[in-house]
Amino acid sequence: MILTINCGSSSLKYQLHAPDLSHVIASGLIARIGEPEGTTDHWVGHRGEHHRRAIPDHRAAFALMMENLTNPEYDVIECPGAITAIGHRAVHGGAIFFGSVLVDDAVMAALRACATFAPLHNPCNIIGIEEAQRMFPGVPNVVVFDTAFHQTIPERAHAYALPYELTQKHGIRRYGFHGTSCRYVSRSAAELLNRPLDSLSMVVCHLGNGVTLDAVKGGQSIDTSIGFGTFGGVPMGTRSGDFDPAIIFHLVREAGLSLTEIEDICYTKSGLLGLSGLSNDMREVMAAADAGNDRCQLAIDVFVYQIRKTIGAYAAAMGGIDALVFTAGIGENSARVRAMICEDLGFLGISIDARANAIARGGHPNISAAGARVATLVVPTDEERMIAIDTAALTAAASARQPGQDLAFALAAQ
Ligand code: AMP
Repeated sequence: MILTINCGSSSLKYQLHAPDLSHVIASGLIARIGEPEGTTDHWVGHRGEHHRRAIPDHRAAFALMMENLTNPEYDVIECPGAITAIGHRAVHGGAIFFGSVLVDDAVMAALRACATFAPLHNPCNIIGIEEAQRMFPGVPNVVVFDTAFHQTIPERAHAYALPYELTQKHGIRRYGFHGTSCRYVSRSAAELLNRPLDSLSMVVCHLGNGVTLDAVKGGQSIDTSIGFGTFGGVPMGTRSGDFDPAIIFHLVREAGLSLTEIEDICYTKSGLLGLSGLSNDMREVMAAADAGNDRCQLAIDVFVYQIRKTIGAYAAAMGGIDALVFTAGIGENSARVRAMICEDLGFLGISIDARANAIARGGHPNISAAGARVATLVVPTDEERMIAIDTAALTAAASARQPGQDLAFALAAQ
């Protein structure tokens, strides 16, 4: 069985996959880590349980996951020995990691070095790996990076026009995020279209609480909306998206805000929440807009406008597109947002069928209008499955390894 672990800044998500990856045996979410009251949810098939209790840190969360997985009531695993490999999500692999890797000391050192780029996330990812090594001695660990898929972005698209020596010295460039989701979804889209991935130019719209638009040409990411930090690009639930950096200097000089306060504003008080003044949750923002709240309507309009603009930019970057793919919470569930985004994009070849769009979640992923040049698809993302696939592939390759063969970057060129 393969265990996947996703340690976020205040949560731990886990899934236990059957050895042939045919299904998920058990899964769970331990949330609000570090808050006075945390929550644990554990599911086995249709059975599940929910608890509230204090979860002081990620090590305590890991212990809770172990308790859930070995709970005799569910008969999931009798002992840790049943788990043959563990896959971990890591947010930031810097410019070092081009693909998923088997964990060894060098990988751990590089992961620690990358923590400077993702100070909220990488340290939690590292704790997850350390705990897995402690609880499952001898079991291989694989780490899958959110940034790795974007390492194919050419320098003209990832370089910022700042003094070159400065950017080189400090590792400043576009890194991108949600790469695991974009990789999974672009593969699934090609399968659904029954066309080779390397023949397709697509724009993937990962629209969740975090938002990434990704230009995927021939299966490779060639540009992506999130940049150096995790708040650039298109507005998100609480993150600002791109804005003129002169605003930062203005706020320091004129409003007397500190850099720490501005950073907090950009990450946690902006986006849908900042514009609406109400919520980071698209469902709540939409309901309030429908009830006449103008600021909520403005939040939706800004969100949709920036996405449309970016789709146009990526169509230009790729010389046209074959597929437009919606995924994640808003992308998968909101027919209304999809319709707003696609409206009047006929000049790009994008045209959707209103009825197909309305029922897209019912197993009808293709929502294109008849005769549309671009296939518009709704494809559920599954980052955990992508992690499990990489973990199975790398551990199988490791067991077939010739002496002296370096596997650390085995998946680099995928
Ligand atoms: P995620 O981060 O992928 O879980 O996505 C979370 C976002 O998806 C939140 O903004 C939710 O409001 C949004 N979402 C989920 N279901 C719907 C829906 N039916 N309509 C609009 N937004 C939705």
